[in-house]
Amino acid sequence: MTQKQIAIYGKGGIGKSSTASNVAAALGEAGKKVMLIGCDPKSDSSITLLGGRRIPTIMDVVRRLGNPDGVREDEIVFEGFRGVKCAEVGGPEPGVGCAGRGIIIAIQLLQKVSPSIREADVLMFDVPGDIVCGGFAVPITKKMVRETYIITSGEYMPVYAANNICRGLNTLKTPLGGIICNEREAANEREIVGRFAEALGVPLLACIPRSPIVQQCEREGKSVLEAAPSSDIADVYRQLAAKVLTEKDNKVPEALDDGYLRDLTRQ
Ligand code: ADP
Ligand code: MG
Repeated sequence: MTQKQIAIYGKGGIGKSSTASNVAAALGEAGKKVMLIGCDPKSDSSITLLGGRRIPTIMDVVRRLGNPDGVREDEIVFEGFRGVKCAEVGGPEPGVGCAGRGIIIAIQLLQKVSPSIREADVLMFDVPGDIVCGGFAVPITKKMVRETYIITSGEYMPVYAANNICRGLNTLKTPLGGIICNEREAANEREIVGRFAEALGVPLLACIPRSPIVQQCEREGKSVLEAAPSSDIADVYRQLAAKVLTEKDNKVPEALDDGYLRDLTRQ
């Protein structure tokens, strides 16, 4: 299969990392070679795939050595649950430096030293929050991402952020594979997110229920697929993973008008 190159976007705290890691685990379980690259300075995308272990970030390793030359793959890429290859870009020096620059260095380094980045069936980027700046765009402008997914709940702010992300994707002429609703139990949540996806003309790929299982597993340092494989929510992640694999109807999204968006989230 040609490599699937995807990025997960959405407002900070909306569930990008938990969804990315659980979908990565589900893809691994289905026999796919997966590489998950965490681009958020929080560097917590892969923690539940590695038994709760925080891996050294690429920025930390580069800073320790003084430059990217001489960094080995085994210092920055770690194998987790079901063979998922995990890397974390890490953050810039707080207050100075730029997250986007760090992501560029990390991608170039991975391309140089890590065969996994080429061999993966699915290359997945967990991208920083809702800031539509350089860090947002790098995996796209570096031609590492061919399709994107946006996570939102039915609350106004995450939908607003999702719409803003669509504006960025439109500027970058990058297709959106669909919307994922990570539920916060807001009123009429599925309808609101469904209407949002419909207005954008993209599929609503999954509604992930708010479930204490997600956080219990996170506390154990495991994905839901590993710690609660027979739960209903594990199946939700499996179904989402299957859809991501087969998703073909990508289109470059056209962001909605602000007033229209507000009406849509009010009903
Ligand atoms: P982001 O990466 O977008 O900043 P996270 O994936 O870190 O967000 O999620 C933030 C918090 O919400 C985490 O503690 C996570 O376990 C929790 N969470 C995410 N999705 C769910 C869910 N469906 N049910 C319950 N808790 C969830
Ligand atoms: Mg995150």
